[in-house]
Amino acid sequence: ALSQAKAEQPVFYSRTVQHQALRHIRTEARLYQALDEAQFELWYQPQVHLSDRRPVGVEALIRWRLPSGVLVPPKDFMAVAETTGLIRDIDRWVLDRACEAMRRWRNTGNAPERISVNVSAEDIKAADFTEMIVRTLDQHQLPPPTLELELTETTLFEISDKNLTKLNTLREYGVSVAIDDFGTGYSSLSYLHRLPITTLKIDKAFVDDVTHNLTNQAITRTIVWLAKNFNLEVVAEGIETVEQARYLKSLEVHTGQGFLYGRPAPETLLRQRFCE
Ligand code: C2E
Ligand code: MG
Ligand code: MG
Ligand code: MG
Repeated sequence: ALSQAKAEQPVFYSRTVQHQALRHIRTEARLYQALDEAQFELWYQPQVHLSDRRPVGVEALIRWRLPSGVLVPPKDFMAVAETTGLIRDIDRWVLDRACEAMRRWRNTGNAPERISVNVSAEDIKAADFTEMIVRTLDQHQLPPPTLELELTETTLFEISDKNLTKLNTLREYGVSVAIDDFGTGYSSLSYLHRLPITTLKIDKAFVDDVTHNLTNQAITRTIVWLAKNFNLEVVAEGIETVEQARYLKSLEVHTGQGFLYGRPAPETLLRQRFCE
């Protein structure tokens, strides 16, 4: 079918489409294999109190280690994982590993308050999403507030009311819910108070040049103001410099995440950091 398409279409067009289709299929097959052969790794990045760098939580971030040793970042496979539905299995694996790690840390008496996992729209659409979360917390004997789900604005505004109800249920159960990359989507402010959320994560794009860019300063100030009014927590993402941290503190952002405090790292490295 592909060679037929090649004959019928202008070459410049069909080559591109063919190439993309083939790459997509190849990635999908490799993702199946990755799950099967345990090629995924879960890395962790600290979230800290900006005042004294005390750890508050960690975000779990997936990595894909190819048999060749090459590490593939999520941006190179998340789109395929989402369109094929494989993301559900991947994120269940992530949640289970994250909760397992949290259990281990709590057993040592040196654990962050919470662990955050990223959730896609596809995950929430699964009929058993709520039960799956509750069951996993249960299995690892974790109190619900130790878990935070991170969803982008796009995800939140794309899912149906029925699926939003699932998040409401989890909120009532005690699980935290954060809006990831906040400010980059198209949220309607009038809708914000109706969402079952606890946290706004200011996107890295605004943090990047927050010390110089007046627009980003205004946006950050507005997000902090919104959070205060809706009684939400604020976390700034992608903090890389002490200047950014100082400026964010002056705007009353109390929690942050970024290379300044620690890059995402495998558990062994994170442990060393927590025990410092
Ligand atoms: P995100 O949830 O917004 O995660 C933050 C991203 O910013 C991470 O990229 C992290 O490594 C990066 N980052 C944090 N601090 C800094 C900094 O100071 N400087 C710079 N340059 N980057 C920083 P990563 O790990 O490549 O993940 C990218 C995105 O992939 C995540 O964005 C999230 O949307 C998605 N993702 C990652 N893991 C999972 C997962 O297990 N499930 C799902 N559904 N999505 C995931
Ligand atoms: Mg996130
Ligand atoms: Mg983010
Ligand atoms: Mg992001």
